[in-house]
Amino acid sequence: MNAFDQSLAEQLAALEAQGLRRQLRNVSAVAGTRLVQDGRSLINFAANDYLGLATHPALREAAQRAISDFGAGSGAARLLSGSLAPHLELEEALAAFKGTAAALSFTSGYAAAIGTVGALAGRGDVIILDKLVHSCLVDAARLSGATLRVFRHNDLARLEDLLEWSTRQGARTTLVITESVFSMDGDCAPLREIVESKDRFGAWLMLDEAHATGLYGPGGQGLASELGVAGRVEVQMGTLGKALGAAGGYIAGSRVLVDFLVNRARSFIFSTAPVPAQTAAALAGVSLVQTPEGAERRQRLWERVAQARPAMGLPATAAQSAILPLILGPESAALRVAEALRERGLYVPAIRYPTVARNQARLRISLSAAHTAEDVAQLTDAVAAVRHTP
Ligand SMILES: *Cc1c(COP(=O)(O)O)cnc(C)c1O
Repeated sequence: MNAFDQSLAEQLAALEAQGLRRQLRNVSAVAGTRLVQDGRSLINFAANDYLGLATHPALREAAQRAISDFGAGSGAARLLSGSLAPHLELEEALAAFKGTAAALSFTSGYAAAIGTVGALAGRGDVIILDKLVHSCLVDAARLSGATLRVFRHNDLARLEDLLEWSTRQGARTTLVITESVFSMDGDCAPLREIVESKDRFGAWLMLDEAHATGLYGPGGQGLASELGVAGRVEVQMGTLGKALGAAGGYIAGSRVLVDFLVNRARSFIFSTAPVPAQTAAALAGVSLVQTPEGAERRQRLWERVAQARPAMGLPATAAQSAILPLILGPESAALRVAEALRERGLYVPAIRYPTVARNQARLRISLSAAHTAEDVAQLTDAVAAVRHTP
């Protein structure tokens, strides 16, 4: 091994020793909630495809039609020749869906975060983040060059302290960033209160609805819509790759926000436009979640969640989200229980540092409308049997 590879191999060995090394698993076939991974057929509890749309015929057909009409690739960035009809249709549909004047799509939610935060805040500005926001928002905030402050998860008093601090500093811009449903804990932000606070201090709010889009509100618009505060959130972000079943990210907001991002969001400007297939599939997903079929799928999902929560030791009340964490603590415990579930034909991922804090390792179960009641029963039985295995 040369010195370069030697250095990397030593770092991987250190991860291995801490139970933190990650490895790709090869999924060779997918059929709804079933997948074949490393040659084994498993029920998948790891996907964020909460409504089962990723394999829905309407999305598949939309993707295939877009390939026929526009090709496999977009050919260029949006500001060159890559701004195709499917992108504009998707953005109009997203704006109508979210009830905003405009929307902009990105290749991924990650790219939406990096481009948008960097466009909105920089040196001399203040960004205030919830401690548990997704890594893409942390990376985005760090890259922006703004002064960062972090408040304890969902702690409104700490948020207000920081808003007050930012005001005293005379910051030109104070941007608060949080999520509606937290990706590794499955709990929700106190959005109404956060909106009240940021308004009182004249700050702006960027809200990541990655795990709420498609799931909350009358047509799946998100948690801000369900709570009646969407109109007061300056920057609404989400992904097209979870409940919406496709891929990509979006920002919804005012016309001037979108015009500004087209000029300033570097991940939008300097990157090839999303491929037509993903964009058309996302459009089909956005349409579908607003139909009676979308409402039925949401209802089925909440039934599965209500069925699973008690077995996870979570209160049966308040079916808050499709993400059920089973916190086990040590990295090794999470790996062991995940392996025991795999033996029983269930794929439930162990989530470890740095995705969550050290010694907060957990199983992260995500449920889908495509799971049957029997799938969930199999899961809860297996969890009861293996969670205390030594
Ligand atoms: C998944 C996720 C993202 C990133 O979205 P992608 O489209 O997968 O890049 C952003 N924020 C949160 C909270 C997420 O869970």
